[in-house]
Amino acid sequence: MRFASLGSGSEGNGLVVEADATRILLDCGFGLADCVARLARLGLEPSALAGIVVTHEHSDHIGGVGRLARKYGLPVWLTSGTLAMAQDMVGVTVRVIDSHAAFAVDALEVQPFPVPHDAREPVQFVFGDGDRRLGVLTDTGCSTPHIEAMLAGVDALVLECNHDATMLENGPYPASLKRRVGGRFGHRENAQAAGLLDKVRHDRLQCVMAAHVSKKNNTPALAQAALAGVLDCTPDEVRVACQTTGFDWITL
Ligand SMILES: [Zn+2]
Ligand SMILES: [Zn+2]
Repeated sequence: MRFASLGSGSEGNGLVVEADATRILLDCGFGLADCVARLARLGLEPSALAGIVVTHEHSDHIGGVGRLARKYGLPVWLTSGTLAMAQDMVGVTVRVIDSHAAFAVDALEVQPFPVPHDAREPVQFVFGDGDRRLGVLTDTGCSTPHIEAMLAGVDALVLECNHDATMLENGPYPASLKRRVGGRFGHRENAQAAGLLDKVRHDRLQCVMAAHVSKKNNTPALAQAALAGVLDCTPDEVRVACQTTGFDWITL
């Protein structure tokens, strides 16, 4: 299996996961033309997707889902809580998922798991092809034993490093937003991401990608340094998903 990012951060997210000829898009926070252009960079047409899986209703994840799904006839998988909050699903084929129940999209196995985040019923996912597994964890305020159990043993991990605690504290956000972002239903801080990585890392973990990195409250270098400390590598060996360009295909 392989995966690639269309872009990652508070201005829009999208990740393509492929197993054999099956490709699904995880979230789409980009406008229609922008999303089509970002897919084209990966050599994909929207019609090559089997559908879109959605984590939660925040616009950086769901903002472009309705238009893309309608235009290309793509089914959308999401929790009932996310569906209740979604504003643009008219005319879309919707498949409601249980936040604890694995399902299959052709060759791809999709395992959702609930996360603490300030949305109605947010989930994150582990994707598998029967051989390899990719874990994705963004938009999560704090870790839970269930999250750590879900991510144990994955071959690759896309892991939110949203902010640096000191930069958030001294940064431009109003106090209420600082509390929200840094709170238990907000986003992961670099050291928290490193702590989680330390719990789930193992010998077969091939690839760790820092994701959802804030432009205002973090730097790629700080995120890389935090994860490198756990992975026993140099900071420049830790990859970072970029808001503008995401990252190119990674094969597991
Ligand atoms: Zn987000
Ligand atoms: Zn969110």
